[in-house]
Amino acid sequence: MTMSEAINEARRCLNCARPTCRTGCPIANNIPQFIRALSEGNIGLAYETIAERSNLPAICGRVCPHERQCEAHCVLTKNKHGIEIGSLEMFIADFAHENNLKPLPPSTGKRGKVAVIGSGPAGLTVAGDLAKMNFAVTILEGQSEPGGILLFGIPEFRLQKDVVRREITELLHLGVEIKTNMLVGPDFTVDDLFEQGYDAVFMGTGTSLPRTLDIPGKELSGILTATYFLRMVVLSDSGKLDESETLLHDGDNVVVIGAGNVAMDAARTAIRRGAENVTIVYHKTEAEISSFPSEYEAAVKEGVQFNFLKQPIAYLNKKQMRALNNIRRKPAESDETDLAGLLVQNITKTDDGQFVTEGGQEVIPCDCVILAIGQRPAARIVSTTKGIQVDDRGFVITRERPYGMTTRAGVFSSGDVVHGPATVVLAMKESKKVAAGIAQYIDAKKLLEDCCED
Ligand code: SF4
Repeated sequence: MTMSEAINEARRCLNCARPTCRTGCPIANNIPQFIRALSEGNIGLAYETIAERSNLPAICGRVCPHERQCEAHCVLTKNKHGIEIGSLEMFIADFAHENNLKPLPPSTGKRGKVAVIGSGPAGLTVAGDLAKMNFAVTILEGQSEPGGILLFGIPEFRLQKDVVRREITELLHLGVEIKTNMLVGPDFTVDDLFEQGYDAVFMGTGTSLPRTLDIPGKELSGILTATYFLRMVVLSDSGKLDESETLLHDGDNVVVIGAGNVAMDAARTAIRRGAENVTIVYHKTEAEISSFPSEYEAAVKEGVQFNFLKQPIAYLNKKQMRALNNIRRKPAESDETDLAGLLVQNITKTDDGQFVTEGGQEVIPCDCVILAIGQRPAARIVSTTKGIQVDDRGFVITRERPYGMTTRAGVFSSGDVVHGPATVVLAMKESKKVAAGIAQYIDAKKLLEDCCED
């Protein structure tokens, strides 16, 4: 948007007495107020208003599903011409960055000391909110660069990496310290952090272990997880990895298994990396797809094909594929090691909505399969720290009071490691509540300490 386009769009806002847009925003951004400030040309106030609730406005402006949240709730959407809230948020955040607007002062650090493990949306939100509340915050990130899923999980065409880097820089202006290459387990433990004087520790380590399919042929070369594939592409794009190591070749036939947002990201990335055909294989129908409708529509538009009601049952190598097709050829070394096809079972959806195995099997020829069927948390923190309980799927158990504290006093958590993979803004929503819980805990702890000293 240009400045005049943004202001004209903002002027359409009715500044409703009961702003339904705000109730549709998971972090309750004061949308009418920032839109009004923008409509008056006061972008400094608009940014200040956004910064009160959000630490990542330029990111949210780009990746939040506005069409299902604030924009869906805008009263004008009923007339099919709702306010473009996401675009306005992005415009304001970008303008603030370009003009070096810094609405909030750095943290005094006097209220207490917090270590934040992980720098994805949850960690960055907790760090930003606590810095605004005058806590001294240190982020410990296992990778060589902070950003977590924002940097390595969401592809460049949906979220530019320079936008992620600059939002993280804004946190540095709030006084947040970031230490990279700090992996919990090998480099430090939660107990070490308490010994170093931290009053509380936050775990925002996400779900780094991808789920895989335990079917015949799983050891073949050419089977990747989506998180690994997307990470390799980011590293290759930033010159840290040779392009050949992204494990995809021009002209490849690629099958992506799964139909969530990560599957759409992987499929659209595969097209951009030169794949000839990209097919999403999903065991249910179009109606059950879990990605945002906009992501699905973008994938269809870009040429991703969809093969619904197919359950993968085996990966096939070149030798097996040749035998199926009655092709005789001189054997090659890669015949038994390289993926060449995916055997699927046809599924039928019955009138009462059940999915049943029916209709035989099919083979889908492919050079590469990318698995996007979910992730679960790694157990590094839990295995090196006493007292943190997880549920039977490995997700961290937290409590309501103080909000977000785990079963170990002083250790808090939120984001995907607690709730399972979700959107950036939902991780932010929970993390804002946990930041308030951490502040409440430290204040109470210090009050008790002061009382005991007397
Ligand atoms: Fe403006 Fe729509 Fe929100 Fe009303 S609901 S305040 S018109 S953005």
